[in-house]
Amino acid sequence: MEGETMKKCQNCGSTMEERRGSYRFVPPSNVPGGTMVVADATWLECENCGQQMIPAALNRKLEELSMTRQGLLLPAQIKAIREKLGLSQTAIAERLGVGEKTYTRWESGRSMQNKSSDNLIRLMDRSPEQFAVIEAQRNPERTLKIADYFGQLGRQQGESQLAMAAHNADLDVETAKRVREALRQAVKKQKAK
Ligand SMILES: [Zn+2]
Repeated sequence: MEGETMKKCQNCGSTMEERRGSYRFVPPSNVPGGTMVVADATWLECENCGQQMIPAALNRKLEELSMTRQGLLLPAQIKAIREKLGLSQTAIAERLGVGEKTYTRWESGRSMQNKSSDNLIRLMDRSPEQFAVIEAQRNPERTLKIADYFGQLGRQQGESQLAMAAHNADLDVETAKRVREALRQAVKKQKAK
């Protein structure tokens, strides 16, 4: 920050001074919880008019606090869910029904997902197999392929092959197991019709 302490205020031209301590911020009214306090913060403040310059790290902390208060997953949490499910950014964007660029902005923190997308990501985290079932219902041809596959499968073939046939992607073993069971139920219903 040493170089930045020499910066001039954009508002009045006076010297910006470095401040350290608890940074207090009053968020907009749509963010619940009142004044935010970030401990051990560093920022610049104009000695004359009080204009502030907030470094990127502090700004990110305030944004994350705001997201948490609004009940939204943080960018790192979204990324962790995607990686746990073994999905590419393209694949998860497709399942969520958003553009890949939109999705990558959530993961990098450049924009904030809305509550309904946040709900979908949480659902996918808890029940990824439901998204495979929806895909199978939407695409009857694929459902038939899955049914054929079940017909030929016997019990001897590996879970990963079935998961890939159903999901068109690599999945971890636990998820693959859940996908297999959910699809078995879906195909059973399809055959009963
Ligand atoms: Zn100033």
